[in-house]
Amino acid sequence: MTDISHKISQIKKWLAAYDGPDISIMEVCGSHTAAISKYGISGILSEKLHLISGPGCPVCVTPTGYIDRLIELSMEEHTTVVTFGDLIRVPGREKSLAEAKGEGASVEMVYSPMDIVRLAKEHPDRRFVFAAVGFETTAPVYAVLLEQLVAEQVSNVRLLTALKTMPPVIGWLCEHGDGIDGFLAPGHVAAVTGSDLFVPLADQYHVPFGVAGFGAEELLLAVYGTFRAVEQYRDSGVLSGVKNYYPSVVCAQGNQRAKKLVDTYFEPSDALWRGIGVIAGSGRKLRAEYAKFDAGSDHLTEDHKKNQACRCDQVLMGKALPGDCPLFGTVCTPMNPQGACMVSEEGSCHQYLMYHRTR
Ligand code: SF4
Repeated sequence: MTDISHKISQIKKWLAAYDGPDISIMEVCGSHTAAISKYGISGILSEKLHLISGPGCPVCVTPTGYIDRLIELSMEEHTTVVTFGDLIRVPGREKSLAEAKGEGASVEMVYSPMDIVRLAKEHPDRRFVFAAVGFETTAPVYAVLLEQLVAEQVSNVRLLTALKTMPPVIGWLCEHGDGIDGFLAPGHVAAVTGSDLFVPLADQYHVPFGVAGFGAEELLLAVYGTFRAVEQYRDSGVLSGVKNYYPSVVCAQGNQRAKKLVDTYFEPSDALWRGIGVIAGSGRKLRAEYAKFDAGSDHLTEDHKKNQACRCDQVLMGKALPGDCPLFGTVCTPMNPQGACMVSEEGSCHQYLMYHRTR
């Protein structure tokens, strides 16, 4: 047995045998939720160790009012709404963009925001509204798009922004969540921002963070390390703060060029999170000098459930498991999603259903 396989074997034994006070760690990254389900990590944990899925899936945290506004725009004359695949199926108050498209609305799916530049040039008589959702990971992509629009003087593209940033929502969860003892910090976000982004949160709320990657072993190491960090803090009062278990990709300071580019075009703003409400400073909006590219993002204040029984809000806050929802796997399935958490492959409900995950 190699050193690493021996170490992994020891870690698995500790995770399965732990018998101390309950410890709950939240992951705030949809890709982590997907990887934890795929690798069956929650299934090897002792009953006293809990991995909770939080608001880390960008599509899942997008409020219904945003979808409704996109649908309105897609029905306006000479206007096409352009979006990534997952968002098209997210329910608004009454319907999704896909359903609106079926009724004649102009909606196009793209795989890269740069496709919109091509579309805009090919159809100068139309206005293209791009659905700009996501976290710190995706914001640089929109900044590059804006850079290109400015450079090439493309004037028929607008962004409807619902961008979110991680630290304010994590702070909100520390204050309003249910017994979250530590966090698996999102590796993709940290690659852009740097792991130091989480240091003030660790200091203020006395919770450890483990910056985690996405491979089975590196994720297991981060899960184990963060559980141990909580245990250490409980037993000795020594807080480990932020530990980087993804050093091949993440450094302390992050990607300076990407951060600068984002700051060129966007500034902090309040943001509405599905099922949670407005969190101060948790979003990004276009700076005033680039307001001509905005499609009316400031007016998004609505967040209504399509199905009143949907418990996405509780699931996103880690206060309920997908299986606690009465619609889970029956009325609500990936083919007939009643809430955003069932749509995206990174959504908690989708993952729990696909991998028969119960905890
Ligand atoms: Fe909402 Fe469906 Fe999840 Fe229930 S199973 S919380 S209806 S997304």
